[in-house]
Amino acid sequence: MARYRDAVCRLCRREGAKLFLKGDRCFKPSCAIEKRGTNPPGQHGAARRKMLAGYGEQLREKQKVKRIYFILEKQFRTYFEKARRQKGVTGENLLFMLERRLDNVVYRSGFSTSRRQARQLVNHGHVLVNGRKVNIPSFQVKAGDIVSVKPGTQRNPHVDGAWQTAAGRGRPSWLNAVGKDLSVTVAALPKREDIDQNINEQLIVELYSK
Ligand code: SF4
Repeated sequence: MARYRDAVCRLCRREGAKLFLKGDRCFKPSCAIEKRGTNPPGQHGAARRKMLAGYGEQLREKQKVKRIYFILEKQFRTYFEKARRQKGVTGENLLFMLERRLDNVVYRSGFSTSRRQARQLVNHGHVLVNGRKVNIPSFQVKAGDIVSVKPGTQRNPHVDGAWQTAAGRGRPSWLNAVGKDLSVTVAALPKREDIDQNINEQLIVELYSK
């Protein structure tokens, strides 16, 4: 599978917003957006910043969401087509599916400090759903599922550190941490208000509906 190998902070600067791709650093003054502002990367970045409208605005919004969830174009398009076939509002359906991905749930629950790290945990078989190993990052969780990490992984200082940090920052209301073990229950499916309010999903719908 193709992978993005360049510096991820460039993606935030390209989108002119914090996408929280780099774990704890995103909350520190060393964040590239805090230090260098929201101009696009590159020598002539400041000159390239312009007001977008129409197609340009729609394209940037789609790229932003793809980058937040670390998904490539083909898979993103597939999510959109599924969202379109479902009942309800297409843009919201799209976000709900992205939010229910196992790698996102691992990140939101606080087993990792970024979605990239979460994907690695899932890929390497550290994550359990209802006590069974699931190593598919795109796996869709459902209400009532219990997501945890293997007992050996719970002692990993990176995982434990991320868990403590998440407890301090607070978890989304649809994910309940249970007991002393590192595990969460998917108490309900996410609602629109649980997802980044800076996303304008309608722009993505307009882009793909052309
Ligand atoms: Fe984006 Fe995080 Fe880098 Fe800041 S530190 S630019 S939020 S990836």
